[in-house]
Amino acid sequence: MTPRPSPSGCAWDVLADARVLAVAPPAGDGDPLLALLRRSGFSQVRRAARGADALAQLDADTDVILLDTVLADMDAAEFCERLADRPEAPPVLLMLPAAAPRGPHPLLPEGVADVLPRPLREIELAMRISVAARLQRERRLLRMREIELRQAAHERSRLRGLLLRREGRDAATGLYSRQRFRQALDAALLAVRAGAGPIGLLVLNLDRFRHLRCQLGQHDADRLLREVAALLRTQVGADGLAAQLEGDEFAMLLHGCTPEAAAERAERVRAAIAQLTTDAEGEAWHASASIGIAAVDAEAGAEASLSRAQRAAYVARMRGGNMVHSYRADDRELADQRANAHCSARLRQALASNGFQLVFQPVVRIADLAVDHYEALVRLVGEDGELLLPGEFIAVAERTGLIHDIDRWVVGAAIDFLQRVSTVRAQLALNINLSGRAFQDDRLLPFICRKLNETGVRAERITFEITETAAIANVEATREMVSQLRQLGCRFALDDFGAGFASYSYLKELRVDVLKIDGTFIRNLAEDPMDQVLVRSMVDIARALGKQTVAEFVGDQRTLELLGDYGVDYAQGFYVGRPSSALLPRRLRLTRA
Ligand code: C2E
Ligand code: MG
Ligand code: MG
Repeated sequence: MTPRPSPSGCAWDVLADARVLAVAPPAGDGDPLLALLRRSGFSQVRRAARGADALAQLDADTDVILLDTVLADMDAAEFCERLADRPEAPPVLLMLPAAAPRGPHPLLPEGVADVLPRPLREIELAMRISVAARLQRERRLLRMREIELRQAAHERSRLRGLLLRREGRDAATGLYSRQRFRQALDAALLAVRAGAGPIGLLVLNLDRFRHLRCQLGQHDADRLLREVAALLRTQVGADGLAAQLEGDEFAMLLHGCTPEAAAERAERVRAAIAQLTTDAEGEAWHASASIGIAAVDAEAGAEASLSRAQRAAYVARMRGGNMVHSYRADDRELADQRANAHCSARLRQALASNGFQLVFQPVVRIADLAVDHYEALVRLVGEDGELLLPGEFIAVAERTGLIHDIDRWVVGAAIDFLQRVSTVRAQLALNINLSGRAFQDDRLLPFICRKLNETGVRAERITFEITETAAIANVEATREMVSQLRQLGCRFALDDFGAGFASYSYLKELRVDVLKIDGTFIRNLAEDPMDQVLVRSMVDIARALGKQTVAEFVGDQRTLELLGDYGVDYAQGFYVGRPSSALLPRRLRLTRA
């Protein structure tokens, strides 16, 4: 900075080395603008006549741009617009024409820091350019400091992370890692075996955490994890150890704690976590945890002790969450969980090794006892070759998502069956059950199309069954699936009709061809006048809507006759025939029971 006497004699603190880019068309001989700037005390001046040249010359060190309102290739507004795209663009001082009105300029382009009315005077120029340039330099310095500080903070947190990791801790939460926890657990086991006092083991899962992450996003979910971690660090005590096993699963080792004392401590943790709230889409979301307690057990070993605490946490979650549960070997939820796990493993295996089988139950036309119609029913082949009924595995398959693979297996096997019997029973038709989730499976429809194409089986030989309750639960999606499958030429039946509360109201919405009257109305039909009234009304309605009816669970001749009287079209049940891998003759000869 050079204090310099102004032309008028007073000492202006002119920033003589300010880097000025003067952008204006040449005017007269000898570039008077350049001369004026030099006279004002600036030595680092560059000149550009056109806007494009100025933008090309612009570098990071330019302190100020002195700009004319109109250039040969663009006006000041366009120049400023293009300048705005540049990072850290210098301020613009706009030189107004002599005729421009004095006073505030409401329509100045963005980026213009100051205006200089013509005629330009040395003192004013020196002062305005110096002020703007100084500000720009300070801004630049600040930015550099900011970058340095950010780099320093980044470096500090990198070193802290390194240090924590070396100690076996997570860089974000400061809690010990799973691996370090396992080492500490092994050491705890040795201590217990050596006769040191009891050591409690606590496993904590945040309830609905996945849901929360979807709702809040990763950032807020991570913040919650950090808050829980901080809470556990304060609760664990000097001789304990808190770890993050993975994601939202935490664990604590509590030295000198009997299971009762550990449960008390866990209760405090639970209550503290229940105080944590966060804002989810404008609503306060309360955190909660399911906590399991077990002892570090000398006989069971480290792995089993940990898995006991984890299973106790699972029981706490199954009972509604936000609770503490101490491990007990006879917890019912655990037995269920084990059974489910076993069942889903068997289903996976069966899918991989063709371990399912179809059986076929005849559906007889009541008018002439013709049997050209069967319902395919799936069976799981058990370990000893016994056939397991769907009631034993469909629910687990639905929970684990394996149901889609099973649905496709059933459809594939049923169409293969139709192809195989084509030579002897070309008219034989099959009813195929689809699960209540079939409409969620994008692969099902293309699979059916491909299978029909490959085998040449006519779509009219297939009627898909979907249970009424599943259809009602997802009317929209079911309607879509029904219409797509009907377009292929397949028919649709509403299974277990009458079992739901609102059976009739959905009949209009779902374009099904057949109603299968639920077995509960048929089983005691001969004895129960109420069932008789209900079945009659179902038949009336089906007829009015142009749909066929099938009665399930037909158990004797009397029921079959009644159904015939009521005008039911088809009958299915153990009296007609049990599900079997063999087909019946084409016409039924029924012996009176
Ligand atoms: P559903 O589709 O209503 O099938 C009729 C069930 O009633 C069959 O049981 C059949 O064996 C039984 N049944 C038929 N007539 C009588 C009778 O006179 N008395 C008695 N007590 N029972 C009779 P299953 O095979 O155990 O199937 C039960 C349910 O499992 C089926 O009900 C269906 O909802 C589902 N399911 C069966 N096969 C499949 C399949 O391949 N895929 C899917 N997704 N679900 C299936
Ligand atoms: Mg069925
Ligand atoms: Mg049924």
